[in-house]
Amino acid sequence: MLNDAHCHFFSSQFFSTLSRQGGRGDSVASLCQELQWDDPGSPESLADRWVQELDTQGVARSALIASVPGDEASVAAAISRHPGRFVGFFMIDPGAADAVDRATNAIATQGLRVACLFPAMHHVALTDPRVERVVAAVAAHPGTALFVHCGVLSVGVRKKLGLPSRFDLSLGDPLSLTPLALAFPSLPFIVPHFGAGMLRETMMAADACPNIHVDTSSSNSWIRYAPGWTLQGVFSTAMSVLGPSRILFGTDSSYFPRGWQRGVYESQKAAVTAAKINASDQGLIFGENFERLFPIKA
Ligand SMILES: [Zn+2]
Repeated sequence: MLNDAHCHFFSSQFFSTLSRQGGRGDSVASLCQELQWDDPGSPESLADRWVQELDTQGVARSALIASVPGDEASVAAAISRHPGRFVGFFMIDPGAADAVDRATNAIATQGLRVACLFPAMHHVALTDPRVERVVAAVAAHPGTALFVHCGVLSVGVRKKLGLPSRFDLSLGDPLSLTPLALAFPSLPFIVPHFGAGMLRETMMAADACPNIHVDTSSSNSWIRYAPGWTLQGVFSTAMSVLGPSRILFGTDSSYFPRGWQRGVYESQKAAVTAAKINASDQGLIFGENFERLFPIKA
């Protein structure tokens, strides 16, 4: 069983929000043309395209991340169309006045399950009380989780479009996640990309907080920040500190025509095999952990 814990849903609303943020006023079609990406069309047709892609690639289920604040409805449409295939994630800015209401509505009404924080992007520290209020709203509903982007943050599509991205990377320290994770011990926390460069801090935080998980997604090119790091070594380290039940496979797939990133899967598969992670632990990492955290809703 293969489940992908990290895929983005680049909807029309996502592109129009980027266009607005950049003060450009381009249509979705012209932005997509500039990027040489396919126009996503309606959320329903994009959801259908993803299902077709997952079928082709042999992927059972995947996360779909609403990748700008305010795009919950696009992912809600996708998951209501294919409830057995997608788990809804949504980016939220805890500094927004309506953050608590949005998070509650996304979970209780729209059927999404995971709120995603990007402290470096939104300039709200993880220790800020506004964050705790959002997390409390998420934790009030069973079956939810919190995704917290830590470490280096670089959003490819923003770069390509020349959008201002004044990220404060110092706000993405995994150690600053520990008071929050300890305050909500039954809420699973997911730190993507093994902490995106802050591997040691992520391991320290996860060692202190048994509810902190990592996802393995992306090319993990942050391994170049330290001498001698390899993906195999990263998997071995995560296995020794977190064990096999708190590591979730992901790719960070996002747009078409590229589609699902099989190359990311293959390099991770090679790394776990080289790290001598046994078949049953690989089963947890590549699918069963996702299934346990996000069972198909009855
Ligand atoms: Zn991502």
